[in-house]
Amino acid sequence: MHDVASVEVLKLLRDLHAQCVLIQSPEGLRREAEDLAFFLETNGIEAILHGGINYGACDPADTEAKRLGCDALIHLGHSYMTLHLEVPTIFVPAFARVDVVPALEKNLGEIKKLGKRISLVTTAQHIHQLERARAFLEEKGFEVLIGKGDSRVSWPGQILGCNFSSAKVNAEGVLFIGAGYFHPIGVAVAVKKPTLAVNPYSGDAIWMDKEVERLIRKRWAQIAKAMDSRRFGIVISTKKGQLRLAEARRIITLLRKNGREAELVLMDNINYPALEGFSFDAYVVVACPRVPIDDYENWRKPVLTPPEVEILLGLREDYEFDEILGAEREKDEPLGVSLHGIRRPL
Ligand code: SF4
Repeated sequence: MHDVASVEVLKLLRDLHAQCVLIQSPEGLRREAEDLAFFLETNGIEAILHGGINYGACDPADTEAKRLGCDALIHLGHSYMTLHLEVPTIFVPAFARVDVVPALEKNLGEIKKLGKRISLVTTAQHIHQLERARAFLEEKGFEVLIGKGDSRVSWPGQILGCNFSSAKVNAEGVLFIGAGYFHPIGVAVAVKKPTLAVNPYSGDAIWMDKEVERLIRKRWAQIAKAMDSRRFGIVISTKKGQLRLAEARRIITLLRKNGREAELVLMDNINYPALEGFSFDAYVVVACPRVPIDDYENWRKPVLTPPEVEILLGLREDYEFDEILGAEREKDEPLGVSLHGIRRPL
């Protein structure tokens, strides 16, 4: 844990008169969580380390913190998502130190192929460099649009694996800054515009069109596999930012109206082996949209998203990404705080 972040966390906890806190971390930040716990304990605050798996801000352990009698939750690695939190929660995002401009400079030729008016997006790790990236690109003659996004994201231009609201602006193409395929492939499918991913670590630039084709082909194969299924398990999650009960009920109604059977199944971490005992022919995950898309190979039964069910029932023709959208940003968000200014190496 970066010293500055620890000191800021301590200051916030002192403001809250906190005597006991729960510290939640993704697997990659376990050591930082331990260091923070030690630091807080030496400053008179009891710290409990949460050992559960955590993939995102959609899964804060505020309920557990309350059950333990903790005064606050510290959630490491992710930025603030608007949720109804049961204890004051300090989100400590992890910002990368890599400079994004050299990779943009190297790939200017490719970026120009997006057109003059481009949408610029990134993940929380590089968000603190988005304005620098914008200034660099504008100097090179681009009109750069950074969408403000909805309440599910913390900053303009930020995207999540389940939310691309900040990419939905009137641009010719989307420029994503960040590593890996997880986010840019989602943007490309959701926004349906040419998308270029520039990786600031490797300096590479990758067009998403082939990846999108491949992904959609695989998803159509899942839909085809589920076509004759009669009994559907509609899987929802207890995770606060993934619980989509109204959407799950809508899917149940649609399936039943179209002659299929459907039942709700509640899980915490959604995984196929835990479902083996059920006799459903197919599943629909109405929780994190990445589960059916990124994990389907581990499922013995077909597993779909809600828009894919609509395609299966003949209610929709075009492929749509299953996003979890937020609301217009609310001004009064008293329980969550993000340490926006803190930077630490990944
Ligand atoms: S719902 Fe899935 S993609 Fe969205 S923030 Fe949570 S883990 Fe990430």
